[in-house]
Amino acid sequence: MCGIIGVENNENAAVLVSAGLLTLQHRGEESAGITVGGNDNMKTFRSMGLVSRIFNEDTLAKLQGSAAIGHVRYTTSAKSTLINAQPFQISCIHGNISVAHNGNITNFTKIKRILLKKGAIFSHTSDTEIFLHLLAMSKGSLLKIVSESMKKLEGAFSLVVLKDKTLIGARDAGGFRPLVLGKFENSYIVASESAAIEVMGGQYIREIEPGEIVVIEDGKIKRSFFYKKPKKRNTCIFEQVYFSRPDSIMFDKSVKEARIKMGECLAEQMKGIKADIVMPVPDTGYFAAQGFSRASNILFETGFVRNHYVGRSFIKPSQNLRDLTAKLKLRPIKEVVNAKEIILIDDSIVRGTTSRRIIGTLRAAGAKKIHFALSCPPIIGPCYYGIDTPMKEHLIAAQKSVEEMRRYLNVDSLTFLNLENLVNSCRAANSKGNVFCTACFTDKYPTKISKLTYKEGC
Ligand code: SF4
Repeated sequence: MCGIIGVENNENAAVLVSAGLLTLQHRGEESAGITVGGNDNMKTFRSMGLVSRIFNEDTLAKLQGSAAIGHVRYTTSAKSTLINAQPFQISCIHGNISVAHNGNITNFTKIKRILLKKGAIFSHTSDTEIFLHLLAMSKGSLLKIVSESMKKLEGAFSLVVLKDKTLIGARDAGGFRPLVLGKFENSYIVASESAAIEVMGGQYIREIEPGEIVVIEDGKIKRSFFYKKPKKRNTCIFEQVYFSRPDSIMFDKSVKEARIKMGECLAEQMKGIKADIVMPVPDTGYFAAQGFSRASNILFETGFVRNHYVGRSFIKPSQNLRDLTAKLKLRPIKEVVNAKEIILIDDSIVRGTTSRRIIGTLRAAGAKKIHFALSCPPIIGPCYYGIDTPMKEHLIAAQKSVEEMRRYLNVDSLTFLNLENLVNSCRAANSKGNVFCTACFTDKYPTKISKLTYKEGC
């Protein structure tokens, strides 16, 4: 999973992009980068780590230009190297072009083989690199080479492309990963989430539609073009459940409102349950727990303190240290939970190990009974469209029944939001039919999944 952003027609483009990247930091903490253009010297700076550590006054002072794109990256640790940090800037027959990508190109392996036979040389392991090769080999205008290259790709890909002062925002025909358009003063902004636009004082305008390519230059939309007419929307429902910020508009619906509705629906599913308090697992369980509390009239309490300074990079070489990390990250407030019957709300269960540890800390703090409720159905399949869920054998819900999971997690009851309630919670008022990909809950994938399907996207 990654976050992308582009800003044009602004002398402080790199500073605005770095502010946007800070807002998108939750979408990727492993590396970040910015390319600036709009002058004669397109330049890219990428590094490993958090945006606040990489982009300071000195680095930003060197990134002068009227247009910029940026990227934050999340990967599995094995692929987490500087060489795969984005944006990727290339020099080719069309001049200097830079690209940042969010998603997972599922026919990566097939296209890479074809390109290798044609003599292409690869220096990254990221799927984004094939898009650069396709761009370089295509003929015509910038819009033409982008649309021709996108036609060859399958899977999930939202892209920002920069050439000189021209910014392009583009989205795959299924619209798996988000991309929105906004305005700030005389500049257009393209970003993974609306919060990244609003944080700089800009206004959210609309989603870039599935299959749409928007070309922006000099504060104007020069072209909006569909490289492929979408047959069906496949927007990722997990964005609303877990990934996106609650202050973002995602697929025309407020993420916060969607999560509150999930909690209300869970309360309806668990009607009649008795408990002293409802409490969230921070941070993503927060609004669903609020919705549950409102619908059930059970008191909302904050029973965990989260330590925001324990990063993903904290070294965990042994089980003891892994347990210590978990305790450092999330600590129950004994005075809140001791001797209480608790409804505990979290977004999802993936492997089950984190949930088990969290519940263990609640038991140790004296919780009398724990009813564990999740704001999505059991995850039974991996994601091939850009979210880093593990393969089936590591997904607890693919291996155990609900009763087996309840025993493993050591809770008194275990409830998952059903799919119908999830879809209804996330659907925008103006959307018709089922517009979501729900494959990790149903095992029914909206695209062909072959052995050659590439799993490690961005
Ligand atoms: S498989 Fe799940 S996580 Fe992946 S795009 Fe579909 S809904 Fe989202």
